[in-house]
Amino acid sequence: MPLRAEPLLSERSVRGRRGVRYPRPARLPADHELPAHLRRRALRLPELSELDVVRHYTRLSQKNFGVDTHFIPLGSCTMKYNPKLNDRLSFLPGFQNLHPLTTQEALQGILELFFELEKWLCELCGMDAFTLQPAAGAHGELAGILIARAYHRSRKESARVEVLIPDSAHGTNPASAALGGFTVIPIRSNTRGRVDLEDFKSKLGPRTALVMLTVPNTLGLFEDEILEIARLGHEAGALLYLDGANLNALMGILKPGELGFDLLHLNLHKTFSIPHGGGGPGGGPLGVRKSLEDFLPMPRVVREKGAYRLRENSKKTIGRIRSFFGNVGALVRAYAYIRSLGGTGLRQVSETAVLHANYLRVRLRKEFPSFVDEPCMHECVLQAVGPSWNGVKTQDVAKRLLDFGFYAPTIYFPLIVPEALMIEPTETESKQTLDEFIEAMRQIAQEAQSCPERLRAAPHHTHVRRVDEVQAARKPNLRWGRGEGGGGL
Ligand SMILES: *Cc1c(COP(=O)(O)O)cnc(C)c1O
Repeated sequence: MPLRAEPLLSERSVRGRRGVRYPRPARLPADHELPAHLRRRALRLPELSELDVVRHYTRLSQKNFGVDTHFIPLGSCTMKYNPKLNDRLSFLPGFQNLHPLTTQEALQGILELFFELEKWLCELCGMDAFTLQPAAGAHGELAGILIARAYHRSRKESARVEVLIPDSAHGTNPASAALGGFTVIPIRSNTRGRVDLEDFKSKLGPRTALVMLTVPNTLGLFEDEILEIARLGHEAGALLYLDGANLNALMGILKPGELGFDLLHLNLHKTFSIPHGGGGPGGGPLGVRKSLEDFLPMPRVVREKGAYRLRENSKKTIGRIRSFFGNVGALVRAYAYIRSLGGTGLRQVSETAVLHANYLRVRLRKEFPSFVDEPCMHECVLQAVGPSWNGVKTQDVAKRLLDFGFYAPTIYFPLIVPEALMIEPTETESKQTLDEFIEAMRQIAQEAQSCPERLRAAPHHTHVRRVDEVQAARKPNLRWGRGEGGGGL
């Protein structure tokens, strides 16, 4: 805790104080300044020394939670440790300074990396081709949806306008389907947290374009009737799409292609350890079966006579979905991650991730029962319900965890679970950390009985206390400065 209230940058401001002043070059180009009418006269920015600014931003960064400082058991989003090796490799000047408009001869190195990365992803997923362009999971979904649309149109099956999506799905699934012009038909989950087969059958038909599933699903459970679902879906003429955000449970253990999926996206920034949060930059490659390959976005990397080339034309392509080649820095990191672990290492990642989730699930069983009390995969969905909770909500548990130095799990998701806490420990945490987390969770369950008020007012030890989230969403205050209408910097 700070000993005294920290002044705002504006309060430290001293007129005329500067950080650095570089000498003016002897000769300035004639147009070195913006025309006067485009310039604002009074910016009223704080005037500070370089040291003031460095301290301010360093302190701000220390108030934050990140994987490099805290355990982030955020379910669905796989916040694992991002090995520094991957950063180092992506910062190599040959990658970092490469211009996307340079000649294809000069691009040979990065094209080879793309080509090899695509092959690795195909091998891991049992797919025939990948596009590396999508910048995130939701972007991969949209590419997949557009491919499904183009595929059905090419077969003169334009009446297929519906996408079936389980009610436990991530919100991006229905959003992507709707954006692609489809009607979303929700499928009910059964009491075991899986797709209700009868409900699925009743909604499947000649209007179904796509069945969009998540395996393991957002409850961290394996969809154990998947072979039957795939058979029925194909029989009805639909394509089967996998939201592959949960690949962290499957690597080296199971290839989604062998379950019958026709197309899938991955989240490189989740499974393949690319730093994420705050919106990117990530990677959401889309993999497809041979029969869909011609629909992939252009350009594609091909190898001819020992050299790599970008193929730009294809009759059936859905077109470009991203400038240049995608988030190249993210792709280099994913490639480095895969190559440094190899096939055996990746399998070990998934096995350990599953083991850790089950360890937490079982050791927390008494205080936080699972929504479905069965072995889970890489994440578990627990609940804070029952009379012993004294009206304390999951939200309060999440806030109190911050006081113990843990980031909050995903809460109130999936939507079908009341008072849900979705916990994904990942493979990169040690047993000590998991035990400390379990201890904190148990203490919180105790506090719900002995002093529920403390939980309702949590967090108590963070720089920012409980915020009014409804107000923050409805009336966001984004202005700089303290006082009326100001957010404070
Ligand atoms: C994260 C996630 C998405 C969306 O991925 P983004 O990269 O955030 O766009 C979709 N589905 C599931 C299950 C996810 O966990």
